[in-house]
Amino acid sequence: MSMFRDIICPFCGTHNEITEGALDVDEHGNFDMADPDMEPQRGDPTLCGTCGEWCIFDLVPGGARKPNGAEYFVLGLNPATKLMREAWVRYNAEREAGD
Ligand SMILES: [Zn+2]
Repeated sequence: MSMFRDIICPFCGTHNEITEGALDVDEHGNFDMADPDMEPQRGDPTLCGTCGEWCIFDLVPGGARKPNGAEYFVLGLNPATKLMREAWVRYNAEREAGD
């Protein structure tokens, strides 16, 4: 069973009630695929389904913040995050075409 957390997207303000951690971050700051049985941890990234921006779970109001420069750098290099962002772009194009 996947574990979810409530967050408010720091980019678009959407209240995402079933946010799942997309990736886990290790002690070196590298991202790996998230364990679906684990609740997202502080520092794990997730993709906002509404605006497609990467958010980082943290102990802040809303439960997530914008990535810092180092996190954006790692997110940009990771092939898994690239695939997830591409999937969101396709999903969003279909959603906009359906409106
Ligand atoms: Zn958003």
